Amino acid sequence: MRRAFFSLGSNLGDRGALLRAGVHAVRDGDDARVSRVYVTEPVGGVAQPDFWNLVVEVATAAPPRELLARAQRAEAEAGRVRDVRWGPRTLDVDVVWIDGYASDDPDLTVPHPRAFARAFVLVPWRELAPDLVSDADVASAGGAVALLGTLDDV
Ligand code: ATP
Ligand code: CA
Ligand code: CA
Repeated sequence: MRRAFFSLGSNLGDRGALLRAGVHAVRDGDDARVSRVYVTEPVGGVAQPDFWNLVVEVATAAPPRELLARAQRAEAEAGRVRDVRWGPRTLDVDVVWIDGYASDDPDLTVPHPRAFARAFVLVPWRELAPDLVSDADVASAGGAVALLGTLDDV
């Protein structure tokens, strides 16, 4: 068993319900811990609603490809349509980190190459894994995030 971390974001539709369904999908029966939910202003210059973001930790024996498949299944179940790059989406799920595993395959790059540049990933991730994400990492990342609440309450 090892830890894997997923970053989930939603800015279209019922964001709380979409995130709860996404957490269920990426767990796929594994034990999991879920960060609080943060509100993030979108990047990329496209006018769109704020993102709600969180990070999920799973304790898993699943191989990395299966974790990517979970992420993609979660997006499909949320009815995600691929449209404008960095445009609004019902659910985006990225594999951020898998203990003891690294890959530069374009289909599955781990650690996620942009995770450490993004406060909306680092702030919720640090709640779950202060051994992996330092305060200095958070301070040097871009973008403001605001705490919204726990997933059960949003
Ligand atoms: P970003 O990667 O900058 O967050 P994005 O999430 O909007 O951008 P997507 O369109 O959701 O990008 O994903 C594009 C591709 O990224 C997918 O086809 C997927 O195979 C690939 N990919 C590579 N590494 C990962 C990873 N660690 N987690 C999820 N997808 C990944
Ligand atoms: Ca992403
Ligand atoms: Ca993605």
